[in-house]
Amino acid sequence: MTTHEFDFVVVGAGTSGCYAAATAAKAGYDVVVVERKDAAEAGHIACGDALKGAANFPDAIPKSELEPAFTNTGVDHGRFEIPQEDTVLDIPIPGELAVIDRWKYGQRIIESASEAGVEFHYDTVVQDVEQDRSGRVTGVRATRKGDAVTYDAAFVVDAAGSLSLLQDTVDFSESTFDTNVDYSQFCSAYREIVEVPEPVEWDDALVFKPTERAAGYLWYFPRTDTEINAGLGFQMNEEPMHLVEDLKRDLRNRGEFAGAEVKDKLGAALPTRRPYDSATHPGYLAVGDAAGHVNPTTGGGIAGAAYAGTYAAEAAIDALEDGVHDEAALWSYNERVMDHFGARYAALDVYNVLSTAVDVDDLMSLLASLPGKQLSEALYAGTSSFGVGLAAKVAAKSFGHWGQIYQMYQTKRVADRLLDHYESYPSSPDGLDRWQARRDDIMDDVYEVTGADAKY
Ligand SMILES: Cc1cc2nc3c(=O)[nH]c(=O)nc-3n(C[C@H](O)[C@H](O)[C@H](O)COP(=O)(O)OP(=O)(O)OC[C@H]3O[C@@H](n4cnc5c(N)ncnc54)[C@H](O)[C@@H]3O)c2cc1C
Repeated sequence: MTTHEFDFVVVGAGTSGCYAAATAAKAGYDVVVVERKDAAEAGHIACGDALKGAANFPDAIPKSELEPAFTNTGVDHGRFEIPQEDTVLDIPIPGELAVIDRWKYGQRIIESASEAGVEFHYDTVVQDVEQDRSGRVTGVRATRKGDAVTYDAAFVVDAAGSLSLLQDTVDFSESTFDTNVDYSQFCSAYREIVEVPEPVEWDDALVFKPTERAAGYLWYFPRTDTEINAGLGFQMNEEPMHLVEDLKRDLRNRGEFAGAEVKDKLGAALPTRRPYDSATHPGYLAVGDAAGHVNPTTGGGIAGAAYAGTYAAEAAIDALEDGVHDEAALWSYNERVMDHFGARYAALDVYNVLSTAVDVDDLMSLLASLPGKQLSEALYAGTSSFGVGLAAKVAAKSFGHWGQIYQMYQTKRVADRLLDHYESYPSSPDGLDRWQARRDDIMDDVYEVTGADAKY
């Protein structure tokens, strides 16, 4: 058996892993990224390929390193197709957006982290963690082409993606690490890269369309005007969809895709849930999809992964410099996540909860009656200026849906309360229980207002 020693062992060469690793390497630490795929396949990840807000990405891997993978920077709005209402809504997307060649992007971040001094060990599947008698995580055990390999480290960063296998093996009984995680809080998604013979008319838009059930959607994201990322997903608390068949059926019914060629196919789970309440344990931090850092209404997780990786590494570097490994020393990581995007994502999750409880036709006709600006704010900011006055005007336009509008309004009020509550996220692990109890009371109101089954 081979044993390696590093300051940081990062499991997973995705966005969160590469940002965490580059941050620690640039601070002068010995860092290895352990990745189960081979070097050529690393970075090849199921994704819609829409990248938001790269201009402000952390310095560890700046936007200039990612730009060679940007294939379409001309997208400025969402195009919501509502077949039930025979309507198309054009909704502005705030901020910077690019559709990217995701595999190339994946390889760019790996190259950039390598240049910062990170070692990459490919073909290496992590199967278990090592914990000392106090419960602190001190390394991982892996298999590389049939051989056992052990990595000892001051910190392990779990960047292994959705439903990370590592979390099944850690004994979290001595920490606040969030274990209230179930596959039903995830979305199962699938996408194809499709080459169409003629340029599409909507190469400046992200196209969304509801699936036959409320808790899912289809997307068509133009990487170029002839290369389209086409995909769909559904929340896993619903009866399973036949993703490949359902996508095929939609493609067959769209004229633009006649004679199209499928170039790549991939599927994966993504966390369409609130961020983990705590993603720290002595010696161990979970980042990105492994800690639920995805916008649960859009499925966008690249930005959250980049920030979380960076914040986790920075907290661990501070702890290492102070010679400590306990949770309190890592807590600033949880606080920064909640402050930057976690609170917003938790509030957005309320609309996700609502979507599992309403009828898709009702939801779509309601959507068709809402103003684009407020929808855009609701989707990306987690809150919107959808006041009573505006609600009344909308109601006049949408006679027959007043019940849903009132429910939507109530849902927004309770989502705003939740957002406020996240502002008092505790400053140490000690305060977490009390904070969670108050948050769970608000969630009870969410379930009452939406009529949805409890998600957590
Ligand atoms: C179909 C789909 C569409 C999406 N569309 C978008 C989009 O358009 N825009 C957007 O911003 N986000 C999108 N997302 C979400 C986004 O892809 C993720 O949030 C993001 O990739 C998370 O990065 P990560 O580094 O946390 O995890 P990942 O990118 O999943 O990386 C995890 C890495 O860990 C490795 N690994 C896992 N287990 C082990 C192990 N035991 N040992 C060693 N290595 C391991 C994996 O091979 C992988 O390389 C989408 C997700 C899906 C599934």
